[in-house]
Amino acid sequence: MKNSRIGGKKIVECLKDKNQTACKCTYEPCSRKGACCECISYHLKMRELPGCCFTKEAEATYDRSFEHFTRLVQAGNL
Ligand code: SF4
Repeated sequence: MKNSRIGGKKIVECLKDKNQTACKCTYEPCSRKGACCECISYHLKMRELPGCCFTKEAEATYDRSFEHFTRLVQAGNL
């Protein structure tokens, strides 16, 4: 996140383009790609985590539930 000041106010610029380049999510039609604050907020409301919290194989299932994440951690796969 990049900060700058305008009129004494701290402005936080979104690094969506940069984040999009690094995003591991394979769900291409999603408009939230790179907007990490929107992404995590969207998934948390549904008791889920963003795709970047999962392994490549687990992400590809599109099951982003807390339960799936927990199973992976308990199995030592995360
Ligand atoms: S993790 Fe979810 S919200 Fe985030 S980019 Fe992928 S599909 Fe979109």
